[in-house]
Amino acid sequence: MNIPGFRGILLHHEPMSRHTSLKVGGPADLYAIPADLDDLLVLVKQLDQAGHPHMVIGGGYNLLVRDGGIRGAVVSLERLNRLELLNGGVITAWAGAENLQVVRFAQQQGLGGIGFISGIPGTIGGAVRMNAGAYGSGLLDRMIRLMLLRAGQVVELSREQICYGYRHLELQPGDSILAVTLQLEPVDTSVTEEEIRRDLELRRAKHNVGYPSAGSFFKNPPDQAAWKLIDIAGMRGFRVGDAQMAELHSNFMINRGSATAADCIALAARVKQAVLAATGVVLEEEVRIVGEEL
Ligand SMILES: Cc1cc2nc3c(=O)[nH]c(=O)nc-3n(C[C@H](O)[C@H](O)[C@H](O)COP(=O)(O)OP(=O)(O)OC[C@H]3O[C@@H](n4cnc5c(N)ncnc54)[C@H](O)[C@@H]3O)c2cc1C
Repeated sequence: MNIPGFRGILLHHEPMSRHTSLKVGGPADLYAIPADLDDLLVLVKQLDQAGHPHMVIGGGYNLLVRDGGIRGAVVSLERLNRLELLNGGVITAWAGAENLQVVRFAQQQGLGGIGFISGIPGTIGGAVRMNAGAYGSGLLDRMIRLMLLRAGQVVELSREQICYGYRHLELQPGDSILAVTLQLEPVDTSVTEEEIRRDLELRRAKHNVGYPSAGSFFKNPPDQAAWKLIDIAGMRGFRVGDAQMAELHSNFMINRGSATAADCIALAARVKQAVLAATGVVLEEEVRIVGEEL
């Protein structure tokens, strides 16, 4: 498909295994990287007119794409990555900015309160979509405004207009997150530096499972840890093809080399079944599963 007037990058039949941390997934019909917001609007208008669906992705760290790939367009907002300082300890981060980059920007302004996202891989758009967090905090606790692309229009929603919870944000189908405005607090920059260093070190120690993964595959059920339930069910290390629940972190699904999305999905189903049988708890996927089967 040709997009007249589009200035960004356009790739056809682009394997999504190149854009997801699990390294599985079939091709997207179109993979687009708009140059800026105007370019995104040009793209989306023409996709809508041609009846082609589109979905936005960030770093692909929480995404499992089925082996048949994605019909329509996948849009990366990596070039919409501006960071802006407003008055009163408020910053706006555009969707394509990486989490650590945002923490560092805040730190340079003497602001903090989001150190817990330092080591979470991905973009701010993805972190908002997932309400990413750690140590009991979620990014959206700091949110005062969201800018979305909704039905072809740029709209702004205040905190009161938005429902969110643990790893959850309620959006309308087709909404794209453009930017988030966050209320931060004045901090001593050396405290932030220490927080970032501790977080990155802890993650290097705990999250380095030696193979491609998408982090925790299942959400923690209320007051329970998914990894413990997986252990109780005897599924630590369980394998389907080259997809495996990591020996080092039983809630991390890893790709030992040539896993397919079908392997990953079959493994997830086996784990859910075993956990239900052993504990009576229904696990829910944290990783977003999209696309078509082969
Ligand atoms: C080693 C490892 C450790 C991790 N640790 C944590 C952790 O401690 N805490 C945690 O919360 N997560 C963790 N994760 C998961 C992941 O890093 C987060 O969910 C992260 O926020 C995903 O961001 P992303 O940019 O990669 O989003 P993607 O994976 O690209 O996208 C995730 C979902 O958001 C949608 N999306 C992305 N951007 C937009 C946008 N601009 N508008 C609308 N929808 C969008 C996508 O369509 C998809 O449905 C970890 C992952 C790994 C690999």
